[in-house]
Amino acid sequence: MISSFYPPQRTLMGPGPSDVSARVLGALARPTIGHLDPMFLKLMDEIKELLQFAFQTGNALTLPVSAPGSAGMEACFVNLVSPGDKVIVCQNGVFGGRMKENVERCGGIAVMVEDAWGEPVSLDKVEAAFDDHPDAAILAFVHAETSTGVHSDVKALCALAQRRGALSIVDAVTSLGGIEVSVDEWGVDAMYSGTQKCLSCVPGISPVTFGERAVQRIQARTHKVQSWFLDMQLVMGYWGGSSKRAYHHTAPINNLYALHESLVMLQEEGLAAAHARHRHNHLALVAGLEAMGLGMAVDAEFRLPQLNSVLIPDGVDDGALRTALLNEFDLEIGAGLGALAGKTWRIGLMGFGSNERNVVYCLNALEAILQRQGAAITPGKALTAARAVFSQ
Ligand SMILES: *Cc1c(COP(=O)(O)O)cnc(C)c1O
Repeated sequence: MISSFYPPQRTLMGPGPSDVSARVLGALARPTIGHLDPMFLKLMDEIKELLQFAFQTGNALTLPVSAPGSAGMEACFVNLVSPGDKVIVCQNGVFGGRMKENVERCGGIAVMVEDAWGEPVSLDKVEAAFDDHPDAAILAFVHAETSTGVHSDVKALCALAQRRGALSIVDAVTSLGGIEVSVDEWGVDAMYSGTQKCLSCVPGISPVTFGERAVQRIQARTHKVQSWFLDMQLVMGYWGGSSKRAYHHTAPINNLYALHESLVMLQEEGLAAAHARHRHNHLALVAGLEAMGLGMAVDAEFRLPQLNSVLIPDGVDDGALRTALLNEFDLEIGAGLGALAGKTWRIGLMGFGSNERNVVYCLNALEAILQRQGAAITPGKALTAARAVFSQ
């Protein structure tokens, strides 16, 4: 007989999922009701309103796609890219590569603009790509590259796309809730996010928002959207106007309770305060790591507060260290990916997990294991350095 599954109580400081608060887990456990129950429809309206707040947008087409961030990504591409469309895709980490895959599977042509992993998207290179491809219909890029810990300039990139008559698709999976995201002010046409990063909700839902120009593009399509499940015109029959909602698919009811709760928490804290908290804890972590003698992989100007790429010092066994953190401290941090595999760790301070306790816990645990591995670090200084930031 297989018995019940009881997961260990970990501290999640990797690239996501992040620690989920007891308050959100409590919401998840409330009674399941029908997905067309009038009480549930009220919850749907509130979630849309809360997402508009989180995205800072008045976009009517703002809703949670019933699947993880990758589905939000796919929803943006399948609805906006028609066969033959040219899409300029910026790649400076893992997720730009997935955008390319999406474009090609929609029958589009991906024009790649590549930057080194650990650097932001270069505006000059995007400008040059538009010079070479003035017929490009869309510009796609990642706001917060979780694989490297770098943020790019959404406002400038979207303005550039608009000047060139192209729509913008922006990945905000890791940015939403952790750093500023201002869809309307920045002129973003389509954006998707995820619930398990800085919103600190359980994984499995992807908030998306489409602006007026994007909606027009969708309505002007002559090719059917290749995905039935993610076709926004169909999804809107369920999530759209509150008068008559038709069955499209069964919404993940309890996950949506959890999302609602996490968004209520964000609203209570306020966006500016949430961003400031992420920044403060990030600065304390970096101060501690640097006092220990570790280096950061990304220039200070482009660092994400919610995802810290740390250079692994020489002679340290990356895998063994992460295993020891997990086994001895119940602490998860992320490995480097792609070009940075084996060279960096990725320490997440996302959402509810961005707190003083996690910073201190992680610094202590890292120091203990690095010392045991005989790494060339300076023990005993990290906490003092972090505390100095906390007391500011
Ligand atoms: C995590 C992540 C995704 C994918 O989200 P899933 O929920 O894992 O599907 C996409 N883009 C970025 C930048 C991410 O960090």
